[in-house]
Amino acid sequence: MALLVQKYGGTSVGTVEKILGVAQKIKAFREKGDDLVIVVSAMSGETNRMLALANSITAEPSIREMDVLLTTGEQTTIALLSMALNDAGCPAVSYTGGQVKILTDSSHGKARIREIDESNIKADLAAGKVVVVAGFQGVDEQGNITTLGRGGSDTTGVALAAALKADECQIYTDVDGVYTTDPRVVTNARRMEKVTFEEMLEMASLGSKVLQIRAVEFAGKYNVPLRVLHSVKEGPGTLITVEDNSQMEQPIISGIAFNRDEAKLTILGVPDIPGVASRILGPISAINVEVDMIVQNVGQDNTTDFTFTVNRTEYDKAKKALDLVCIDLGAREVIGDNSIVKVSIVGVGMRSHAGVASKMFDTLARESINILMISTSEIKISVVVDEKYLELAVRSLHTEFDLDADA
Ligand code: ADP
Ligand code: ASP
Ligand code: MG
Repeated sequence: MALLVQKYGGTSVGTVEKILGVAQKIKAFREKGDDLVIVVSAMSGETNRMLALANSITAEPSIREMDVLLTTGEQTTIALLSMALNDAGCPAVSYTGGQVKILTDSSHGKARIREIDESNIKADLAAGKVVVVAGFQGVDEQGNITTLGRGGSDTTGVALAAALKADECQIYTDVDGVYTTDPRVVTNARRMEKVTFEEMLEMASLGSKVLQIRAVEFAGKYNVPLRVLHSVKEGPGTLITVEDNSQMEQPIISGIAFNRDEAKLTILGVPDIPGVASRILGPISAINVEVDMIVQNVGQDNTTDFTFTVNRTEYDKAKKALDLVCIDLGAREVIGDNSIVKVSIVGVGMRSHAGVASKMFDTLARESINILMISTSEIKISVVVDEKYLELAVRSLHTEFDLDADA
């Protein structure tokens, strides 16, 4: 008998039939004797539908009201699933994030969990009930409803598993595990048996949306055993775990991540004097735009060109701010490109192998893919390329680094 926290994503509860199917699955676990806390997302498409509704009312909806609106998606699912469970003879009770008391800070839209009151959940489990909790939401000190960012139900699942010291946090979704890359782009991608927290965190940060970044961070920090599984098909899924140093031969590259939401901005002919980077990036951070990769070139005439990437949705906002910086600094001009993507190779095995970067660059060169920017860390190499090369870049690197599934 185990205590399991199971999270079912939007596509897994996207229709009444699917909710009924999930209820049967939960009932079967219960009959085996497991204690279960279930976290659910909104039915697929619901969160986007509500975002569109808000935007049809106002161009700048209040972030507080946005959270009141969006959390109703998850609230609908917990009620429906609990009804289905009770109907199937499996006693269940639902809770919103606020009812559990998942206490967060007050950053609407991207709140962080501070504390979880597990007393109600423990009492219900002791009474033999399945506890169904709304993902993606919490409540701040003042009682305002907050949300944890897109994909945040994963984080609710992991945080509850940590608070309850669950035996495993199981993320049920529409794929049967974590693959070497998104199986929608590379059909012969391979499911991984295991992946380290470190690699998974890197993959999630670099665009693999199978798990929310904060969920992986949380699981790593509190050492929560985390597994990604298919919500319908049986199988072992993928375990996210600590690095196994007993394995002599680590694969050099474990996976390939990509992010389509990228854009880059360049300010040309900036006087090359101390303090320039801060005068360029200060105004960008002041308007809350996050900067990712940064490259600075030194020109011959005591001027420099400065390029950085931002999320594509923030391109226009960042460009406007940079146009003002350009005038202020007496720089030549600002140019931008919002049709770029980032492709990254990830692997802890990279630490002990030289030549990985040149193999990556050779592969892209052979496909005539021009690299626009490069950034590296101990366990990843990222390149920025034109978006038209995304699929070609990912597929050729997947083959070159021996990640293709056996035919
Ligand atoms: P859910 O609604 O269950 O939260 P998501 O859509 O957030 O599901 O995440 C599952 C999707 O993540 C898959 O359908 C898949 O296309 C995508 N994905 C991206 N990268 C990977 C990867 N490396 N392995 C598995 N799935 C991936
Ligand atoms: N419903 C939210 C979203 O679509 C949270 C989640 O599904 O995890 O982002
Ligand atoms: Mg998700």
